[in-house]
Amino acid sequence: MSRTEKTDRPMTRVVNAGRHPEDWGGAVNPPVYRVSTIVHPTMAAREAAFARRFADEREMIYGRTGTPTSFALEDAVAELEGGHRAQLYPSGLAAIAGAISAFASAGDSILVSDSVYGPTRKFCDTYLKRMGVKTVYYDPEIGGGIAEMLGPEVSLVFTESPGSLTFEVQDIPAIAAAARAAGAVTIMDNTWATPLYCKPFELGVDLSVHAGTKYIVGHSDAMLGVVVANEAAWPRLADTAMQTGMSAGPDDAYLGQRGLRTMAVRLRQHQQGAMEIVAWLDQRPEIARVLYPAWPGDPGHALWKRDFTGASGLLGFELTDEASPHARAIVDGLRLFGIGSSWGGYESLALVQKPADFRTAKPWTGHGALLRLHIGLEDPADLIADLDQSIGRAVSGGAEAKT
Ligand SMILES: *Cc1c(COP(=O)(O)O)cnc(C)c1O
Repeated sequence: MSRTEKTDRPMTRVVNAGRHPEDWGGAVNPPVYRVSTIVHPTMAAREAAFARRFADEREMIYGRTGTPTSFALEDAVAELEGGHRAQLYPSGLAAIAGAISAFASAGDSILVSDSVYGPTRKFCDTYLKRMGVKTVYYDPEIGGGIAEMLGPEVSLVFTESPGSLTFEVQDIPAIAAAARAAGAVTIMDNTWATPLYCKPFELGVDLSVHAGTKYIVGHSDAMLGVVVANEAAWPRLADTAMQTGMSAGPDDAYLGQRGLRTMAVRLRQHQQGAMEIVAWLDQRPEIARVLYPAWPGDPGHALWKRDFTGASGLLGFELTDEASPHARAIVDGLRLFGIGSSWGGYESLALVQKPADFRTAKPWTGHGALLRLHIGLEDPADLIADLDQSIGRAVSGGAEAKT
């Protein structure tokens, strides 16, 4: 029984999905089950419990195979996204590896977007290769043209939209339709948009992956991964997760469900701050272009508008040739932006990125230095002032420095 109705709007669903106070002694949130062993009064009771669990019921039989804490988050994410069921993993990368390895066997080829998250690429090029799976990278903007790359040996197509480094929006419905027609499953890394701003299952995707570490946890204090599957893909995903011992720790699962409850209101502010900063960046003479699909000037804007209902706080921008040598000094000179991996927390982050180093299917054509920003929940006016002082100081050698 869920507290949510099909007619509930997203902000209501994010508060109520997967929540069962009546099962938890009235507590608003699920208890944190710190458990390995589950004891039963008799062997018969144990066998019955195992039978229910292996029939896919949310039954606690052992710490690794799920607890009310993990089931609550899995059900919430699956429901928000419109999938059948979800499985937790100890990190976003583990979720990606779990989803891919469930559907790729020795001798298969898989098609992976050239814009994917770096460690996804590394997983494909090392571990999967060793397991006898061939990875072929494709132009993220290929759309329905992917049909020409599909064949009987291709078991899955991996997408990430927008790319979390270079922000290309993929034509997911066209890619998923071509893959389905060729008998391949489509996986989408939906971390950027979260279950709130993109509904991959409505776009034809079979499995949606999240680095829960990012906006779901939302406070930079836990690692977590989630894969949501449609009904057809679920048994194989769940079986692979079971056989490989995938689970998330109880405190991390708890932090994920706690973060989720405020995700709608946080994302609204991330988006608003990002839009203000993009508008400001777009006016700066040092900036060649901004990479943010919600920005009307972005090449992916039309697809984003068609397939997404919002944007999060992660964006990129390219410096002009003249400003590019100062990219690192710009990042080093920021006061409010941390220099660090990951994103999706309440705090702002900045990095210099080098996508040209990774691309193989379609070389990165941006010529200037690429910076990536995560816009946190600080006042956007302070973030703009910080960017202003740092860009001014770095590019004009202190001439525009304010203090
Ligand atoms: C961070 C990230 C991941 C990996 O998540 P971890 O929890 O850090 O393992 C996967 N995909 C994208 C797009 C990410 O940004």
